[in-house]
Amino acid sequence: MVVDTVIAGGTVVTDTATFEAAVAVDDGKIVSIGDEDTLPAGEEQIDATDQLVMPGVVDPHVHVDDHVSIDSYRTAGSAAALGGVTTFIDFAWQAYEGEDSPWDEPAPLLDGVKRKRENQSEVLVDFGLHGGIMREDDDLFAELADVVDAGVTSFKMYTAYEFGLSNGFMRRVFEALAEANAVGVVHSEDDSVCQSLMEELRADGEDAPEVYPQSRPDYAEAMAAEDAVRLATEAGAKYYGIHTSCRASAAALDRFRDDGSQVRAETCTHYTALDESIHAELGNLPKIAPPIRSPDDVDAMFEYLRRGVLSVVSTDHVAQRRTSKKDMPWWEGPFGANGIQASLPVFHDVAVNERGLSYPFLVRVMCANPAETFGLPNKGTLEPGTDADIVLFDPDETYTITAEDNASKADYSIYEGREVTGEVTKTLVRGETVADDGKVVGEPGHGQFVERKLPDWSA
Ligand SMILES: [Zn+2]
Repeated sequence: MVVDTVIAGGTVVTDTATFEAAVAVDDGKIVSIGDEDTLPAGEEQIDATDQLVMPGVVDPHVHVDDHVSIDSYRTAGSAAALGGVTTFIDFAWQAYEGEDSPWDEPAPLLDGVKRKRENQSEVLVDFGLHGGIMREDDDLFAELADVVDAGVTSFKMYTAYEFGLSNGFMRRVFEALAEANAVGVVHSEDDSVCQSLMEELRADGEDAPEVYPQSRPDYAEAMAAEDAVRLATEAGAKYYGIHTSCRASAAALDRFRDDGSQVRAETCTHYTALDESIHAELGNLPKIAPPIRSPDDVDAMFEYLRRGVLSVVSTDHVAQRRTSKKDMPWWEGPFGANGIQASLPVFHDVAVNERGLSYPFLVRVMCANPAETFGLPNKGTLEPGTDADIVLFDPDETYTITAEDNASKADYSIYEGREVTGEVTKTLVRGETVADDGKVVGEPGHGQFVERKLPDWSA
């Protein structure tokens, strides 16, 4: 027997172990892992000497091609491939009437799913979609089962912005999600607290970018998280707290975790690698919500990651241009920062190099856990039979991150000038090499929409 590809000479990392082995790939799947002599020959041989061979990163929080991000599927997919991300989960929105709506006319969630899928033709890596609930409308309950059938098995709700939901409506959504066995994904920040602080700071003329984090404090995030997770728990629904940024919010989730099976949460790479002093350096460019916080909050992210209260590291990738953020008071200009291309090297640097966490830990929080949490059994693992989504990573290569290397349409990086040790050298999606040595080499359109299953969180 001859297989398509054998990756030999490297160190394999799984969610539980690190060992010397070769990986055989055929027809887009992993066939076996073991001593090279025991594996079939490969038509193509990839030399992984001095490299780590890991499952592709699964980034469950990415914004592409819509009202909040200027990236297309082509540019975001290329940035993902270069960053070792082989699957991301984007958002399909329900349109509503309002300034920030993706369309002018209200439209059902299924239309949002369709719209995203029509724009996927040039994507390089695989992707799924969360359903974004943007208005308090009973139509949602009528179409929920169809959306789940379309492979969209998690639903995002906001507590802030013009499309924030009331606790009363969220209660109804959680009841429906519990019934459907789907996942509730919540952006938690108490809107009225943030609004009142913003107005106060604005009235005082406090317009320097360094002031921005004060307008969306940790307690506002914790308050909204506490309400939302309590509602989910009462309804018996699965709860996933997105972009947890601070100690107060992680502690609030921890109080509801019980055995940990129904309450899960992520943090993002930037909350583990940057603190609020970044605003003095980069002005409004790192303006995101929740904001980048204090050094103690950075420590807290690692404490809660170690304990498993936080079990996923995502990016909340949003592409914007400098001109839309620069030279204006912090309350003007859009939120969001791009990060998908730098996420693995940056998190590897802060978690493994600086804090001594293990490689299996890295694989758990960036690959295995997000795949398992969101119903992607063929992703985030090197188990034989699953998709051959593989990253080769040189843990000793040092380089400097710069926006000049961005494949994203974003023309800046919140990690600009940061030196990291550890570099993605090759990315395979279902057996095909899509990025090699810092260059995109795959055929645009190789990526596919993945219909996600209803995840089982009982394990
Ligand atoms: Zn987001």
